[in-house]
Amino acid sequence: ASGYSLMRDPRHNKGLAFTEKERDAHYLRGLLPPAILSQELQEKKLMNNLRQYKVPLQRYMAMMDLQERNERLFYKLLIDNVEELLPVVYTPTVGEACQKYGSIFKRPQGLYISLKEKGKVREVLKNWPERSIQVIVVTDGERILGLGDLGCQCLPVTIDVGTNNEKLLNDEFYIGLRQKRATGQEYAELLEEFMTAVKENYGEKVLVQFEDFANHNAFDLLSKYSPTHLVFNDDIQGTASVVLGGLIASLKLLGGNLADHTFLFLGAGEAGTGIAELIALEMSKQTKAPVEETRKKIWLVDSKGLIVSSRKDSLQHFKKPWAHEHEPVTGLLDAVKSIKPTVLIGTSGVGRSFTKEVVEAMASFNEKPLIFALSNPTSQSECTAEEAYTWSEGRAIFASGSPFDPVEYNGKVFVPGQGNNAYIFPGFGLGLIMSGTIRVHDDLLLAASEALAAQVTEENYEKGLIYPPFSNIRKISANIAAKVAAKAYELGLASRLPRPKDLVQYAESCMYSPVYRTYR
Ligand code: NAP
Ligand code: MN
Repeated sequence: ASGYSLMRDPRHNKGLAFTEKERDAHYLRGLLPPAILSQELQEKKLMNNLRQYKVPLQRYMAMMDLQERNERLFYKLLIDNVEELLPVVYTPTVGEACQKYGSIFKRPQGLYISLKEKGKVREVLKNWPERSIQVIVVTDGERILGLGDLGCQCLPVTIDVGTNNEKLLNDEFYIGLRQKRATGQEYAELLEEFMTAVKENYGEKVLVQFEDFANHNAFDLLSKYSPTHLVFNDDIQGTASVVLGGLIASLKLLGGNLADHTFLFLGAGEAGTGIAELIALEMSKQTKAPVEETRKKIWLVDSKGLIVSSRKDSLQHFKKPWAHEHEPVTGLLDAVKSIKPTVLIGTSGVGRSFTKEVVEAMASFNEKPLIFALSNPTSQSECTAEEAYTWSEGRAIFASGSPFDPVEYNGKVFVPGQGNNAYIFPGFGLGLIMSGTIRVHDDLLLAASEALAAQVTEENYEKGLIYPPFSNIRKISANIAAKVAAKAYELGLASRLPRPKDLVQYAESCMYSPVYRTYR
């Protein structure tokens, strides 16, 4: 390729880091100013630039510009500054970016498959330049909060069946299909065509991650395709695994077993019922009691109140297992007072719903109430870290979905944990791919949770942390991948043979490195 096109290809561009030799050998002379920077110096410069922006969305856009210009440098920045940049490319800022996507859109970052492409999905997939695809992250955009791109072997796909968002439909900058959402058969047919085409094009072992589908489709798609495809729903299963990981870790602080606890959820959708089911499964493994029994330690509140047996007939199917015997209760506060949970988990999407009274009630019958306010972004968090610590007089163990800064209360510093799905999905996906696993099994999710919890150190616990620091995410992910792969081999689901001896080392060797290549 000519030097000019080398510079304009984000996969190959190194900017001022092209060496003298490369400039000679690849017709780059004169196309660049004379200075030669190391990748580290480029990184330093870009971080300086980024920190000048005070508006988070501007930082997000600067990162996207970098990704389009120089992919390796983008990932190097992300890897080396993950704690600082994750809130930019992920929750909370990504939420705003998604909302304003039409106006900030510059270049497509993945594939768009709309109803217009019905009957041609296979050919559309062939338009993507990459042939060897291992992971696909697909969304229909109905319940957005997440991040797709994990690098070049990952293909982000948007299935566009329209939108019911009036604001977008009337927005002249809207980039999607301008119609109401297709549902029913028309929707199912496009998804079926996509799922078939994906296997035809990329083979049996391509991982399809369903991301941010509304719950009425999410549960159905997962159960429909689990028997035939390698599928994973991050909002249901990834969330469940990351929260269970935090719970297992918190038992070290609280003492006792999972089965000693009583759980109450605000929100009984993908996240709430997904987490609840994985907790019940883990309890069942630990106590040998059937899962039908262990579910009884877990209660959920939805928009109509506590889920109880008298509501069973009118409940969506994914809520039915949670309809236990109890008199009807409407508000969260009454539910808390009646159930007396040791663990309170917010997955409602409703900000400020863990009120002072709710937190005080939790603190009145628990020495150390465990409070997860998981709704994203920050504005939707059920309570803030400061509220949880203050209202519980510094006794709460707190984790949230979106990040909160450490809080000082009565002279003591509390560091809130972030139950971020990004702890799980990269390592989980790597574990599947590197072992050639053909189907996802709940035991793999449990293995991931345990692997995550095992990485919380004494030093972390002393600060009240129930998640390890994100700065170690590569190491954490390698360990999760290894444990997931090991479980897959044990269950006979892994197809890559022989089994690598050292799975952690193998996981690390499979990871992307952002270091520049040398062009000869
Ligand atoms: P979802 O499937 O739409 O479920 C939302 C649930 O909240 C529904 O059961 C809904 O009740 C209930 N709800 C809504 N308003 C309520 C109210 N005023 N009082 C009580 N319950 C109410 O959504 P989801 O996928 O589970 O996500 C929910 C939230 O969890 C989102 O904010 C998301 O960002 C967050 N989340 C966080 C993480 C993380 O931190 N790692 C991961 C995943 C999701 P009905 O069923 O009656 O409508
Ligand atoms: Mn998501």
